[in-house]
Amino acid sequence: MAVHLPVVDNRSSIRGDGSRATVHPADVRGRFNTARVVVFGVLLAAYALVPWVTINGHPMVLLDVARRQFFLLGRVFNAQDVWLTFFLLSGIGFGLVGLTAVAGRAWCGWACPQTVFLESLFRPLQRLIEGPAAQRHRREAGPWTAGRLLRRALLWALYLALAAAVAHVFLGYFTPIRGLWAMIKAGPAASPEAFGWTAAITAAMFFNFAWFREQTCVAICPYGRLQSVLTDPDSLVIGYDVTRGEPRTKGKVKAAGAGDCVECNRCVVVCPTGIDIRNGLQLDCIACTRCIDACDDVMDRLERPRGLIRYDSLRGLQHGARRFLRPRLALYAAFGLAGLAATALALRSHTAFEANVLRLNGPPYALDGEMVRNAYDIHLVNKQGRRVTFAVDPVGGAPFAFVIPMARVTLEPLADAHVPVFVTAPRRDLHGDARVRLRVRPLGAGEALTVEAPFLGPD
Ligand code: SF4
Ligand code: SF4
Repeated sequence: MAVHLPVVDNRSSIRGDGSRATVHPADVRGRFNTARVVVFGVLLAAYALVPWVTINGHPMVLLDVARRQFFLLGRVFNAQDVWLTFFLLSGIGFGLVGLTAVAGRAWCGWACPQTVFLESLFRPLQRLIEGPAAQRHRREAGPWTAGRLLRRALLWALYLALAAAVAHVFLGYFTPIRGLWAMIKAGPAASPEAFGWTAAITAAMFFNFAWFREQTCVAICPYGRLQSVLTDPDSLVIGYDVTRGEPRTKGKVKAAGAGDCVECNRCVVVCPTGIDIRNGLQLDCIACTRCIDACDDVMDRLERPRGLIRYDSLRGLQHGARRFLRPRLALYAAFGLAGLAATALALRSHTAFEANVLRLNGPPYALDGEMVRNAYDIHLVNKQGRRVTFAVDPVGGAPFAFVIPMARVTLEPLADAHVPVFVTAPRRDLHGDARVRLRVRPLGAGEALTVEAPFLGPD
């Protein structure tokens, strides 16, 4: 039977027999690397600090799923507001699609948590314990000595600690972070659910960052797969200028008719997904810019202009003019803005409390001689992050008489309550479509809501 081997084309993450080879990207220095270190630092700081920040006395971001309480930018939401996430996520989703059409996989190279955690935490740790890439390659080609085993054990122990730390910060987005230390001290038995999630996230991160790494981007991430349909010849990508670089010649001295690429392979050895960008734009490219810095460095040494590998559109790399405004961009922007505008509008109309009038279970009305009685249930939800007292009052009078046993209700933040209301009216005064109206108002500041329901009786 014929065996089909993969086409590996300079791909250092796959061996000729199809098995995976660990990628150890070489160190690189340059302007994009410096910029990325700064951006990653800011993102990591934001990741660690956001759970601690409060606005108007509420967490800036807290998705307390267990209590159905959600805080975003100081505003409080409950389970009834979950529909808002549709517009928010669609706005963000189309924003990302629009960004891809403009700047390719800028998200992957500059802001994706996979890249940020790997490049700024896990890879530097490996560099510290196991040395630079060349040393790691050499060691991997040799036998498992005691020193190599010891290094690997230490590295994995540190990876595990780091993954656990990142997972605990993540937990701070779902449970109040100020109570986290107390939860940890109380032990897993006191909060088994939180412990289970944290352990699972720690394990997933350890697996991903210690071993799986670039395979997440090239084999699992759906966004990477969509790249080819989201970008077009005018999108900004990282590419190799074929017309300038080819034909390649080795050495410093440029032969007549030779291109600028000197086949030093630096752009390949620094690539975290193990590809050769000179083979053209590939799904495996996460736009990390490392090959730009590596090649610019080579060009500087050779005293040739930078930019043999650069940020450019496919049209620009073929020395054509890049168009910025294209129909697809307008479409993505329109969808993205529509989603964000809908979210903004919904937030503006977001009420501080909810009051819905329902009928109490049982027959629709009761007759007591010539009097008809209806029973209602007002479901009251305090959507604020503070305790509020509500007043429930009838609107209008005759022919209705109201009995409201809980006319004043105090609700804790995001709590709800059911307020029974009994209404009676003389049968002879009921004509046509009779309706009962009640006003619910928060005592102190805040607008009142009027709710109404039909009053039912015998025909
Ligand atoms: S780093 Fe630049 S010069 Fe060296 S192989 Fe890559 S493209 Fe050619
Ligand atoms: S080809 Fe260049 S930009 Fe793409 S992943 Fe490799 S090093 Fe990063």
